[in-house]
Amino acid sequence: MQGFPVDILTYNQALECAKSAIDNGENMQVVTINPEMVELAKKNKDFANVLKHSELVVADGVGIKIALKLKGVNQERIGGVDYSRSLIEMCARNNLRLALLGAKEEVINTVCQKLKCEFENLNIVFSHNGYFSDENAILNEIKKARPQVLLCALGAPKQEFIIYRLKEMLQGCTMVGVGGSFDVFAGCVQRAPLMWQKLGLEWLYRTIKQPERFRRIFPTLPIFLFESIIDSIKK
Ligand code: UDP
Repeated sequence: MQGFPVDILTYNQALECAKSAIDNGENMQVVTINPEMVELAKKNKDFANVLKHSELVVADGVGIKIALKLKGVNQERIGGVDYSRSLIEMCARNNLRLALLGAKEEVINTVCQKLKCEFENLNIVFSHNGYFSDENAILNEIKKARPQVLLCALGAPKQEFIIYRLKEMLQGCTMVGVGGSFDVFAGCVQRAPLMWQKLGLEWLYRTIKQPERFRRIFPTLPIFLFESIIDSIKK
């Protein structure tokens, strides 16, 4: 994908990767990549380096799906909200240690309460809001909690940089940057109706609901699509 890796696999395979990494005691950084992240990585070498060293990069966002289609690859969308929800269910089923980092204090508290009501056996070993000043202290607390799954909802690229650091500190942990997923779990942000999702228009729905997102998508998305067309012609 314009010089950055994207793994071609099904949703279930992406989940199986997480499970086997945990079973084998390996760390795994999962990036749910979208066009804004690709464009950012082109300008920011440190972020590009993190992407290149991530164990799993899955296609989030319809823009990535289209870019892959231009290269003749059919890839289903693996979005952060769905993927993190499936990982939480996996934690509950297998009694895995789960850590949650990110979002506003009231949001993370609501998420924890809701999840504990829904999954009686869920073992949340760490949770903290995403607005902290002492990053080292937070990372050390996470290390002590020894999570096997960490969902990090700080927005890109902050969440990817933190996870990259944590890879040096943890063992057997699947770590995913999940953007605004906690806001969705808490009910603060509504997901697009299913029909919009099926049509690949979730991004448009979110932009209508949160017009401040417009600046993130334009001109980044058209630039990304234009470059994807050029990329597909070259190869
Ligand atoms: N956030 C955070 N700490 C920060 C900046 C952002 O915890 O320093 C949270 C923010 O509250 C929101 C999430 O990160 O819950 C980012 O959501 P956004 O919608 O920007 O992410 P996207 O889903 O678009 O990647």
